[in-house]
Amino acid sequence: MLKERIFELSKEVFGFDFPKYLEVTNKSLFAVKINRKAKCYEELFGETPASILNVINRSFFEAQAGYSYDLHNALPGVDIPSDLFLLCDERLDDKTHKIDALIIHELCHLIIDSNNVQNTTLEIDDSANYLGKKMWDNTDIENEAISRHTIEFCTVLAAASLNAMKYLSTFDSKLKVINQAMRFDMKGRLRI
Ligand SMILES: [Zn+2]
Repeated sequence: MLKERIFELSKEVFGFDFPKYLEVTNKSLFAVKINRKAKCYEELFGETPASILNVINRSFFEAQAGYSYDLHNALPGVDIPSDLFLLCDERLDDKTHKIDALIIHELCHLIIDSNNVQNTTLEIDDSANYLGKKMWDNTDIENEAISRHTIEFCTVLAAASLNAMKYLSTFDSKLKVINQAMRFDMKGRLRI
């Protein structure tokens, strides 16, 4: 269900055909849940091969969610062309719109890392630039190299939040999308 939701949000919010992206790049999408208590990664969907689970479990980084683009290039020992979606087990019981917002956040990482911003329906206009800058000012900028929450990321997420408001019934304001998508990554709620 989560996999289908990722594909749906990719289509609706970004105009990005996720299954086609996987087909063209000849990759698989695997997903693991981040078990914070046991400090390990466990299968979530996609039938993540044991070989990959073994490699990623050699070290543990606590996070609420994540997206690893081209895992086989990022992590020595992974020889299956793949992307990896990560979600903390504690988030699985969140309300739908909250999970949706985190998925939108992770899709922004994918869109940027795969160089596909221009292949989406996102409009990087004055409004997105303005909101993106506001959001970026509200993040932990010193951690940018690790979080990848660059000003480009924030601007892309701002544009995605405008689309989410337009095309999804779950969100009635762009700020709600941003504040949910960045709820673990901003110093406080974004207000304008
Ligand atoms: Zn992020």
